[in-house]
Amino acid sequence: MSAVRTYFNDIWLALSSIAIGMRITIMHLFVRNVTTQYPDVKLKLPERARNRLYVNIDDCIGCDQCSMACPVNCIIIETIKSTPDQDLGTTSTGQKKRLHVPVFDIDIAKCCYCGLCVPPCPTDCIVMTDVYEFSEFDRQNLIYNFSVMTPQEIEQAREKLKKAEEEAAAKKAAAVAAAAAAKAAAAQVPPAAPNPASENQTQQPSTSAPDSPGQAGKS
Ligand code: SF4
Ligand code: SF4
Repeated sequence: MSAVRTYFNDIWLALSSIAIGMRITIMHLFVRNVTTQYPDVKLKLPERARNRLYVNIDDCIGCDQCSMACPVNCIIIETIKSTPDQDLGTTSTGQKKRLHVPVFDIDIAKCCYCGLCVPPCPTDCIVMTDVYEFSEFDRQNLIYNFSVMTPQEIEQAREKLKKAEEEAAAKKAAAVAAAAAAKAAAAQVPPAAPNPASENQTQQPSTSAPDSPGQAGKS
């Protein structure tokens, strides 16, 4: 009899311990489902959510402010100066563009979404969007290139700047040489012949008597 009781007692213990262990789970059978079925269902993001960056390169003046503000150095910008005869236009905020921007890369894999690059931008052309689904299998695909210049355009801009700088340097050298030649020519001019009349005037001792004895004594 005691063996039968022990047998049923063990069964009861097993069932009750399972019930205790499953209590929370069993309770959730009777409450409303709160799991969001992502990606079929997406939560509404906060209004100021910071996610993937976007650069409107047409408005970028290449000032480098965003890059300098970035704490992880994930923004790489290269610029080429325009020459005086080039007009790169203006931004939508009215700033004159003076630099070509052949490289504007953001390594979004390094970005920590701090948003520090956004406020310094003088043309408001770098912004944080609400796009957060941009995973990639290859990390290289997370380096975003925002420049729209073609390799030919970059080469042309570099050549043009180089030529303009060479011309400016040649002009400067010519001006320096002309100034040096003028100085040398001035140094070679013989001093003007002395005027005998004026020389006599200066060398002739004064014969006029002092105005008064008192004045002569004082001199
Ligand atoms: S959000 Fe922060 S980490 Fe990302 S690029 Fe801007 S400054 Fe750099
Ligand atoms: S701060 Fe703005 S304008 Fe200046 S380089 Fe960055 S994105 Fe371009």
